[in-house]
Amino acid sequence: MPRNPAQNDSDAAAGTVWLVGAGPGDPGLITVEGQRRLRAADVVVYDALANPVLLDLARPDAELVDVGKRAKDHKMSQEQINALLVDRASAGLNVVRLKGGDPYLFGRGAEECAFCAERGVRCVVVPGVTAGIAAPAYAGIPVTHRKLASTVTFVTGHEDPTKGDTSVDYAGLAALVGKGGTACFYMGVGRLQAIADELTGHGLTADTPAAVVQWGTLPTQRSVAGTLADVRARVEEAGVSSPAIIVVGAAAGINEPGLNFFTDRPLFGRTVLVTRTRQQSSELSALLVERGAHVLEAPTIALAPTSDVERRALSEALARLCEGGYDDLVLTSANAVDVVADGIDALGKDVRSLHGVRIGVVGDATALRLDERLRLRADVVPTQTSGRGVAEAIIATGAVEGRRFLLPRADIARPDLPAMLRDAAAVDEVVAYHTRPADALPAGVVDAFDAGAIDAVTFTSSSTAKNLVSLLGERAEALRSCRRVSIGPVTSRTLDELGFPADAEAERADLPSLVEAVQRVIAARFSGVSAMTR
Ligand code: SAH
Repeated sequence: MPRNPAQNDSDAAAGTVWLVGAGPGDPGLITVEGQRRLRAADVVVYDALANPVLLDLARPDAELVDVGKRAKDHKMSQEQINALLVDRASAGLNVVRLKGGDPYLFGRGAEECAFCAERGVRCVVVPGVTAGIAAPAYAGIPVTHRKLASTVTFVTGHEDPTKGDTSVDYAGLAALVGKGGTACFYMGVGRLQAIADELTGHGLTADTPAAVVQWGTLPTQRSVAGTLADVRARVEEAGVSSPAIIVVGAAAGINEPGLNFFTDRPLFGRTVLVTRTRQQSSELSALLVERGAHVLEAPTIALAPTSDVERRALSEALARLCEGGYDDLVLTSANAVDVVADGIDALGKDVRSLHGVRIGVVGDATALRLDERLRLRADVVPTQTSGRGVAEAIIATGAVEGRRFLLPRADIARPDLPAMLRDAAAVDEVVAYHTRPADALPAGVVDAFDAGAIDAVTFTSSSTAKNLVSLLGERAEALRSCRRVSIGPVTSRTLDELGFPADAEAERADLPSLVEAVQRVIAARFSGVSAMTR
C-alpha cells in the first residue's frame, strides 16, 4: 500500500507542527499516527480536553505545555498559543499540538495551521475521533442508522440562537432532523433550552428524541435521554453539564441493549479507590478500569532514595549480572525493573549483556514494564502475584539447584522469596529502592472523599489500610460511607482493629478475586440503578 507522504519518516523534518487529534477522552481512541507523533515530539502543547494520560507517551525530556482552556479560566490566549507553536518549530523542534477530539472540528485547527504557514512553518494535521461521534456511540447512540438516521450534522452550540447573530441555519437543521437526521451539538449545554426551543420553533415536534452525553468515552461518562420538551429539565435534575454533546433526532431515542457495550460493564459509573504503592497499583487499576470503574489511586507508600553504600552494592551486583555472574534475575516490582534498566544504562551496557539470564517477575505489571523498558520477555510469570508465587513458579521449572540468583528489591521486602530458593541456590539480595509512607493524599482523592463520591475502597495489605487511615486523619470517618474491600483475612483483621471493618473479602488473596469482591459489594449496593437516565 503506498504510504501517505505525511507518514514517511524522512518527512518528519524537525521544525514541523503536528496538529494531532487526541480523541474524545478514552486514551485508546487516539490514532496510530497521532501516537507515533506524540512519542517523537520535542514539545507537546496540549488542551484541557486532551486526556493528560496521553502525555505519558511523550519522551521524558519532552517539553509539555498546558494551554488548557476550560470555561473562563483561559490559561493562554489563542495568539499566545500560535506564537508558541511557531517559536518552538522555528527553533528546529518537533512540535505536537494535541487537541481534544479532531483538531479541525470546532478546534480552531485551521487557524493554527494558517498562522504557522504564514510564518514559513510546516503544519501537518492528524485527524482524530471526534466527540460528536464517539460520545454518543459510548452512550449507546449510533449517529446514523439505516432505519432511523441518514444524515448527521455537527453543529456549534456556542452561538446563542436567540440573539439572531448565529450562523447556524436552524430552519434547515430542523428540516434535516425532521426527515430522519441526527444533529450533534458541541459546546451547547449552557444553551440547551434555547437550542431546543429554536428547533421546535422551526417545526420539530416536542417529542423529538434528545440526549446529552457528558465526559463521553471516559469512566466518568454520564448521559441523559429525553425529548426536546423535557431534556433540559432532565439534564438539570441529573446535574449533567459541560463538556457534553447534545444529540437530537430519532437515533437519540434508540434503546437497544446490544449498543450499551460501554455502560453495561459491571463497575461502570462507580468510583473505586485503590490503595497501593504507586508502582504496584497499575495492575489492579487496569482490572477495575476494564470493568468500567472510575479508578482513583491513593499511593500510601512513596519511594525514597537509597544510601551511597546501597547504590554501590547495587551497581556492583548489576556489573556482575552483565558479566554473566548470575543465572537468574528476579524482579518483584515495576520499580525494580526501572532501577535495573537505569543501572545497566549507567554502566554503559545494554540489554545484550543480559543474554542467557533467566528472568522471573512477580506479575503482569512487572512483565509489562520489563517489555517497555528493556524489550525483554519474562521467562517466569506466576499466576499468583506475590513473592511466594514467583518462588513457587521458579521451583516448578525444576531448574534451581546450583544456580545463582540476583534479587534487586525494596528494603522492606518480605523474606519468603529468598528463603524458598536459598536451600538449593545462591541468592544475592540487593536493595534497589526504599519505601516510606506517603506524606499526603493526592488532591483529587481528598476532593472525592469530601464529595462522598467514592463507592468502594480496596485494601491490598495491612500497611496500606493503616497508612490510608492515617493519611485521611479526621476525614477517615468518610470511609464509613464507602464499601471497604479487603484482599484477605490479615488485612481484614487490621481493618477491624482500625474500626473500619471490611464489607467484603477476596476469596483468594489475589487481584482478580479482589476485583470480584468489589463487583459483589457494588452490585449489592446499586442493583436496579441504570447507566442512562431516561
Ligand atoms: N475538537 C473537539 C471539539 C472541541 S469543542 C472534537 O472533535 O471533539 C469542545 C466541545 O466538544 C465540548 O464543549 C463538548 O461539547 C465536546 N466534547 C469534547 N470532548 C467531549 C467528551 N469527552 N464528551 C462529550 N463532549 C465532549
